[in-house]
Amino acid sequence: MKESGDVPVKDMKDHKDYASYFQSTYQPPSLKDAKKRGKEAVKILKDYDLEEDLKRIGVGKKFYIRTYGCQMNEHDTEVMAGIFTEMGYEPTTDVQEANVILLNTCAIRENAENKVFGELGHLKPLKLEKPDLLIGVCGCMSQEESVVTKILQTYDQVDMIFGTHNIHRLPQIIKEAYLSKEMVVEVWSKEGDIVENLPRVRKGNIQGWVNIMYGCDKFCTYCIVPYTRGKERSRRPEDIIEEVRHLARNGYQEVTLLGQNVNAYGKDFEDMEYGLGDLMDEMRKIDIPRVRFTTSHPRDFDDHLIEVLAKGGNLVEHIHLPVQHGNSEILKLMARKYTREHYMELVGKIKQAIPHAALTTDIIVGFPNETEEQFEETLSLVKEVQYDAAYTFIYSPREGTPAAKMIDNVPLEVKKERLQRLNATLNEISLSKNEAYIDSVVEVLVEGESKKNPDVLTGHTSSNKVVNFRGPKHLIGTIVKVHVTDAKTWTLRGNLLEETAGVIEG
Ligand code: SF4
Repeated sequence: MKESGDVPVKDMKDHKDYASYFQSTYQPPSLKDAKKRGKEAVKILKDYDLEEDLKRIGVGKKFYIRTYGCQMNEHDTEVMAGIFTEMGYEPTTDVQEANVILLNTCAIRENAENKVFGELGHLKPLKLEKPDLLIGVCGCMSQEESVVTKILQTYDQVDMIFGTHNIHRLPQIIKEAYLSKEMVVEVWSKEGDIVENLPRVRKGNIQGWVNIMYGCDKFCTYCIVPYTRGKERSRRPEDIIEEVRHLARNGYQEVTLLGQNVNAYGKDFEDMEYGLGDLMDEMRKIDIPRVRFTTSHPRDFDDHLIEVLAKGGNLVEHIHLPVQHGNSEILKLMARKYTREHYMELVGKIKQAIPHAALTTDIIVGFPNETEEQFEETLSLVKEVQYDAAYTFIYSPREGTPAAKMIDNVPLEVKKERLQRLNATLNEISLSKNEAYIDSVVEVLVEGESKKNPDVLTGHTSSNKVVNFRGPKHLIGTIVKVHVTDAKTWTLRGNLLEETAGVIEG
């Protein structure tokens, strides 16, 4: 074995006996086990600690993490970057110079999974060239037994696979990967704990993500998340408040509270009645200009939350409220646990309490059994709600979910045609919503240079509109006023009105 720092590294794997993994080395992930929801209390662990030998393991080496999927994965990547840094590694954005490459994967759509398998293929020559390179797969895909089996059988360039519940074990997994000749696989199919004291390296210093809860108990029939992320478990409010205060003290301008179903926040507390509305009320008292939250589930969105959001202040007037479909029968097949009527009632309450609220949503077309009439109900709902924007998807079955057992009976051509019609309707509404901003003055959190033109700055309004304008770079990270002169479907353009920094939108 070769030496690397003071830890021996392994040679390329030459032979594998897959059966041995399943017998002794590890428990394969199990979607069936991951579905179980017991009564066991959530453990909040604050005992993360790094042994001395692990603190030197990465000295002189570099790590590279490629993140797929949602903000939850971005959050996990920041934590893993924090752990790598504590181990002495330095970050790199160049795979060629990396000593460890991690693919933090997303399981939400088959397409996302195929991208990861493609990427693993691309990395093979690099691994052959640099046998000491460690390649790891983590994130939601690694919680699926079919994925783990496929990697074990086909992708011997992979050195380690670990799951979403095993992130805090990254140092031990890396050490084992250096020492072992075999692929290291550690994926726990469990309901989940909360590990509070993990290190973290945040991306940027303008906008921060703060996880308020983990997991999901909704079990929408098309979704794999409840199996890959465990049961709903909320962080204690004091830990969240402290984290947001810390960001505020460090000059962050915006924080987004994260969870797969943030409206269920606090439902798992046994010692108190405390929900997202209460938490948002605490956020109002923190001196940070903007607070967002995502993702909402209409079923758990309660009146108290609406009441608190209506107070405004640093609570932004943008609500992402995934509807998924406009027909109650399809919603039932999706197990969304609300009807069209209930959703529309909720939208009505939000609009009444927060008249300028910008609503965005997620929509799936072509779910099993969707008829033309049912699809048209999605179109009519979209027109009724007048969304500012929407993420739209063609339904594709995810292995292991209940919907995958339904017959996927809407032909792809029909799905595509419906998606086109839906997007055309949504785009028309988005454009007219954006045009209403022309000639108004908006407050923009300047996030950086525009990707298309470095002379142009870009940022968001509190209602989440993208605004592009010309201005000096030192404004990045501040909130400025912009006079809107032009509107497109996705963006607004305008002129910098004055160099205001630190303005809070009311
Ligand atoms: S609420 Fe439904 S769609 Fe959202 S993460 Fe949970 S199961 Fe998936």
